[in-house]
Amino acid sequence: MDYSFDEDQEAYRTEVARFAAKVLAPHYQSDDKKAEFRRQLALDMAGMGLTGLRIPEQYGGQEATALIAGIAAEEVGRHDFNATYLIINTALISDVIVRNATDEQQASWLPGIASGETVPCICITEPGHGTDAAAMEVKAVPGEDGGWMLHGEKTSITLGMTADRAVVLARTGGPGARGISAFWVDLSHESVTRSAFDDLGGRSIGRASLHFDGTPIAADELIGEEGGGFVSVMQGFDYSRAIIGLACIGAASESLDEAVQWSRDREAFGQPIGRFQGVSFPLAECATHLRGARHVCLEALWRKDNDLEHSEEAAMAKFWAPKLAAEVIHQCLLTIGHVGYSSEAKVGQRLRDVIGLEIGDGTAQVSKLVISRHLLGRAYAP
Ligand SMILES: Cc1cc2nc3c(=O)[nH]c(=O)nc-3n(C[C@H](O)[C@H](O)[C@H](O)COP(=O)(O)OP(=O)(O)OC[C@H]3O[C@@H](n4cnc5c(N)ncnc54)[C@H](O)[C@@H]3O)c2cc1C
Repeated sequence: MDYSFDEDQEAYRTEVARFAAKVLAPHYQSDDKKAEFRRQLALDMAGMGLTGLRIPEQYGGQEATALIAGIAAEEVGRHDFNATYLIINTALISDVIVRNATDEQQASWLPGIASGETVPCICITEPGHGTDAAAMEVKAVPGEDGGWMLHGEKTSITLGMTADRAVVLARTGGPGARGISAFWVDLSHESVTRSAFDDLGGRSIGRASLHFDGTPIAADELIGEEGGGFVSVMQGFDYSRAIIGLACIGAASESLDEAVQWSRDREAFGQPIGRFQGVSFPLAECATHLRGARHVCLEALWRKDNDLEHSEEAAMAKFWAPKLAAEVIHQCLLTIGHVGYSSEAKVGQRLRDVIGLEIGDGTAQVSKLVISRHLLGRAYAP
């Protein structure tokens, strides 16, 4: 066993940490206040290779391991949690494209994602179908020249107000997962309209509903086989869940560092507050739980990189890390007292922001369903 990053991984971690502290951190709170996505963010992230992590080098990407994507998410999560959505989205979407699209499609679509010029989103959720996504109703009906026309509404889409292109799952056949296909849809067409959510957190990512009113899809914008879209997209979620876990752990670890420093500096009753067990013991618990959850996330990514089954570990990462991060950040906010409650401190915003990923990409219940099935066997689990 080896519990440390190797030299290259550690050097990469340091490089991303430096970039995130210098380039991303200054915008974390101002982007939240403006509540809109800053296009320059995608270009800055792309400049560091963070939008092309899972893209082959021949298409302008980094061709990085899943573990490297996790390291990047954790360090970016420390400084600008909302910027991690770009890592999560681009890694998930480019992975779907690399695994399922033709060489010509990859050559045409992936360089734009890697360069930050194409901001992509993924459209699965609908107003009537979230967790039970396989029951989705948005339809792609045959159009001209072997293509399709898209009709219906997708909702709760990360980067939905900004994205240029979307992986859209839509029904092309009968009921259930096998009637669903995946498409690479141009969102600049006039038949696409968007409406923004006014969210508690993640305010700079422009979560939105997208309405498709006969949006054209060309014949060569089908990803993989007709009817194979649901499975090919869902396979990518496994490891992206561990990346989400690390993004949340990054935000919580940064909050813990701030609370620890505060506990050294702040005095009450003539001594640093850290000398009160009521202050230091909760922080000790936070540090312990964070380390445990971090190991689960890293194990899931290590298993992915070694072609080992990892859906159970990824489900553990997804249900545990965002929930734990919210609890830890809450504790840190209380440790910092009235100053932590002010919008000048970052802890309050981090708390609002991480809660979103307790829901996004699947709730804890869905993850526990996966874990129970591994634990008990399908015949004995919900
Ligand atoms: C910040 C954020 C970003 C998101 N980004 C995207 C995106 O980019 N693209 C996209 O397509 N979607 C996105 N989503 C949507 C997200 O994937 C869905 O919200 C999620 O799948 C849950 O669906 P729902 O909210 O409709 O809840 P529902 O499915 O209506 O569930 C409501 C509650 O019931 C529980 N529940 C449902 N079924 C079961 C069951 N079988 N057993 C136990 N409990 C159950 C759920 O856990 C939940 O607590 C995002 C959501 C958020 C909050």
